[in-house]
Amino acid sequence: MPETFKAILVSRDADKKQSVAVTDLTEADLMEGDVTVAVEATTVNYKDGLAITGKAPVVRHWPLVPGIDFAGTVLSSDHPDWRKGDKVVLNGWGVGETHYGAFAGRARVNGNWLVPLPEGMSAHDAMAVGTAGYTAMLCVMALERHGIVPDRGPVVVTGAAGGVGSVAISVLSSLGYHVVASTGRSSESRYLTDLGASEVISRDELAGPGKPLAKERWAGGVDTVGSTTLANVLSMTTYGGAVAACGLAGGMDLPATVAPFILRGVSLLGVDSVMAPKQLRLEAWRRIGSDLDHAKLAALSTTIGFDGIIQAAHDIVDGKVRGRIVVDM
Ligand code: NDP
Repeated sequence: MPETFKAILVSRDADKKQSVAVTDLTEADLMEGDVTVAVEATTVNYKDGLAITGKAPVVRHWPLVPGIDFAGTVLSSDHPDWRKGDKVVLNGWGVGETHYGAFAGRARVNGNWLVPLPEGMSAHDAMAVGTAGYTAMLCVMALERHGIVPDRGPVVVTGAAGGVGSVAISVLSSLGYHVVASTGRSSESRYLTDLGASEVISRDELAGPGKPLAKERWAGGVDTVGSTTLANVLSMTTYGGAVAACGLAGGMDLPATVAPFILRGVSLLGVDSVMAPKQLRLEAWRRIGSDLDHAKLAALSTTIGFDGIIQAAHDIVDGKVRGRIVVDM
């Protein structure tokens, strides 16, 4: 009898009605790939919430095991870079969207998609960072490449109490930035200042229709919200500043004007984690190892088991999750 492992499977019927179930799979059920990994930890990201609830068309292969990131140990490999026993991390590359993903005891993937688990980090730690944290680091690196260093002025982080926001605040404050955290949950103010935010503002200040140019408040931004929030963040960015945009928690639209770009030389920096080239990933994970205060990781993450994934998926799309959720498999 082949060994079985638990997996979450999303399916849809002839009327395209989506359902989700916990099932048992064997390695023979997994999709093509040259490395098989024992998944030791994973996370529930906003995108995983969308995949499981069906609130947005994240899943593009049916049925599918969702879960866009994992950390684990290589069980077998036909790839030159990986051997049995290697500790690895995976983020993105369509895993959990078009390729069977992390919400299963095992995953079979293309070895080119894997990066080594950073030195000194456990699978659990890496997933406390997860795709959200790795994306936050990509945003910080984008700002740095644009010359937005701490001396240039404050940096605003929107969707502050979420996963990307929480890690962005921790990293930016460790690097010496003055961080302005924008949140819709005033009850999380203490959590945000403990992570390193110097100021906490209400998301309402950035939510309404804004002016093309408003009072200059920050040199940079990490925006996870999009829509009017991003438009307002841009309108309040100082001359020559830059905003790294990675999310759409508030909407996919961008009702902005070109005024900040053409009158203040502000730059909008797009950040994508899914197809980011390997060199950038390796650099981001190296920086996570060096620039993220590991003590803060424990403060910003909650741990659940495999059986809690589906509920957590609903909670994250309802905006009820604080920081990061780690799933110990
Ligand atoms: P979370 O759900 O953990 O955080 C999102 C936060 O946004 C919430 O905690 C909340 O913060 C705020 N928010 C939620 N709804 C609204 C709303 N309607 N208006 C304004 N603010 C809102 O998600 P993640 O941090 O994991 O992801 C954040 C975004 O980044 C998502 O859109 C996700 O899809 C995207 N993302 C993109 C990646 C990429 O490669 N580009 C990779 C990873 C994530 P608060 O309560 O503090 O206001």
